[in-house]
Amino acid sequence: MFTTLFIAFLLADILLRLWLASRQIRHVSRHRGQVPPEFSDRIGLHSHQRAARYTLAKMRMAMLESVVDAAVLIGFTLLGGLQFLDSHLALLIGNEMLRQLALIVSVLAILGLLGLPFSIWRKFKLEARFGFNRVTPGLFVADALKGMLVAAALGLPLAAAVLWIMANAGPNWGWWAWLIWMGFNLLILWIFPTVIAPLFNKFTPLDNPEISGRIQALAKRCGFSLGGLFVMDGSKRSAHGNAYFTGFGKARRIVFFDTLLSRLNADEIEAVLAHELGHFKHRHILRRMVISFALAFLFLQILSGLSGQVWFYTGLGVLPQLGRPNDALALILFFLTMPVFTFWATPLANWFSRRDEFQADRYAARQSSSDFLVSALVKLYDDNAATLTPDPVHSAYYDSHPPAVLRIRQLHKA
Ligand SMILES: [Zn+2]
Repeated sequence: MFTTLFIAFLLADILLRLWLASRQIRHVSRHRGQVPPEFSDRIGLHSHQRAARYTLAKMRMAMLESVVDAAVLIGFTLLGGLQFLDSHLALLIGNEMLRQLALIVSVLAILGLLGLPFSIWRKFKLEARFGFNRVTPGLFVADALKGMLVAAALGLPLAAAVLWIMANAGPNWGWWAWLIWMGFNLLILWIFPTVIAPLFNKFTPLDNPEISGRIQALAKRCGFSLGGLFVMDGSKRSAHGNAYFTGFGKARRIVFFDTLLSRLNADEIEAVLAHELGHFKHRHILRRMVISFALAFLFLQILSGLSGQVWFYTGLGVLPQLGRPNDALALILFFLTMPVFTFWATPLANWFSRRDEFQADRYAARQSSSDFLVSALVKLYDDNAATLTPDPVHSAYYDSHPPAVLRIRQLHKA
């Protein structure tokens, strides 16, 4: 019964993904011949067609990836992959905690290895073809190794703590696991800007009096206390530009990718920052965090209910063992299959996100200027080869940001 439900959801998901991707491909192809009138004075036909080619290449890859992901999921569950790993590790490792950690690590390692051809293809073929990739094979390997070390240093203690709680805290372990999860997330937020991010990139204080003067004035106008302005060597990996806020309290800092600074002028940078400040002022970031913690609570309660049910395991192709804890199995099954059951909620989350983006744009128009923001956005769309003509249904489902045409139309009204 549960198996049927799982297969039904998985099939519905994959068909929906493929249908949405094919809509996007058709829509973008159909509109590749003409730049939308809103952009025709600023974006040339050549750039527009490059964006179309880039979007199509990404969509084709996404279609292939979603089919492979579904196959891998079936392999782990109904075809017995997880069962195979679990029973073999039980023969090899006597200690319960180590055995369960080994199970989690081997599943993650296999997922990572299966995903590797895709990430190599994406960087060195797809992104490289459009001139975005700056990662050398050496840097790619170094990043992968560092990423694994960081994931192990942070993830293993977290997994061990959760497994210990599951085994020892009784039926209310969900509450304790939730507290651990929140503590872990706050820790990451806290150490990310100063400990984790510098492992991968160099951060230098912004050394541009014009821009920093503009940003200081903007922050003052918006009543925002500024921790520091930094430039990150994003060009080391990609030509895509960005800017973000990170950290909290006094450690709060604004980070610019060098690629962004090299493309936008002071007016445009001020407007982009004003948009980001809008997210702060309207408490979007805080609200997202609260919602994510509430969802984590809900999911942990569901998991703590499911982990005691034999049908949850057998329905997904695994036999729980009576003589030893099955907590790692429950965690893995839950995290592998949860996206299948929650994919339908994607457009809902994105609808809220797009509403926030409009709100942040309006804030930027008030505190800076809508013209500056429009010209920054046009440059960014152009540089990133983002399509200006997405399929409306695909966009409503997946996009966290409103389509370019709508966004700029709203800004012109502001
Ligand atoms: Zn935004």
